[in-house]
Amino acid sequence: MKFLIRLDDCHKNQHYENWDKILSILYKYNIKPLIAIIPNNNDTSIEFCENTEDDFLTWLIQNKENIDFGVHGFNHSFHKSSKSMYKSRSTSEFNDLSYVEQRMILQNSLDWFRSNDFYPNWFVAPRHSFDKITVDICKFFGLSISDGTEINIFKYKDVLFVPQLYNKARIPLFSGVYTFCYHPNSMSDSDFIELESFLVNYYQMFIEWEEVKIMKVKGCYLRSQVINNIWIIQNYVRNTFFKKYRS
Ligand SMILES: [Zn+2]
Repeated sequence: MKFLIRLDDCHKNQHYENWDKILSILYKYNIKPLIAIIPNNNDTSIEFCENTEDDFLTWLIQNKENIDFGVHGFNHSFHKSSKSMYKSRSTSEFNDLSYVEQRMILQNSLDWFRSNDFYPNWFVAPRHSFDKITVDICKFFGLSISDGTEINIFKYKDVLFVPQLYNKARIPLFSGVYTFCYHPNSMSDSDFIELESFLVNYYQMFIEWEEVKIMKVKGCYLRSQVINNIWIIQNYVRNTFFKKYRS
């Protein structure tokens, strides 16, 4: 069993206090997270301060050695779309757009990273929402993908997928490679305490993102689709039947 940590929605107006808090906890246990960065955030629901781009770059450079960089789209703004490849989302920054349009979004994003001397290797789709064209574009730019409902890493269209199932650290039932995805901007004090109490016991099971690239590929795309369908049914039942039953 191997674990990874991903932190979403890093941008210039983020909740810096929470980000510093989680990075210092991870640093204490020698865990290097993947940070999903939005170069040009337009989503006001995740803004917490008025810091400038220079402030943000200074902060990123200070933390550069202890994080891996992930491309979290370009501006975190969404359009209505058909279902995503995973997790059934129907709003997206990428899904349903043409190859040219999607490639332009990722090109804009990568231009920002490279102009600041950062070289990300990972694509993290905002809202887990992307389609098969997005996968082609990730292949074009040499990006691996942090997403997918599998319990082991797999390849699709020659692109490496590191699955992402859980939004909190836990011990899953089956052995595999698991990513725990946190959103530091909205974490509460109890979330930090809960995370640290997990790390105290299990920090040795965490690996670095670069290590994944040399691991044996044991998962497969078809199984990821089967697990995804089970996940969708499970959520449907939980959100309809159990909600009604409780009310
Ligand atoms: Zn996001």
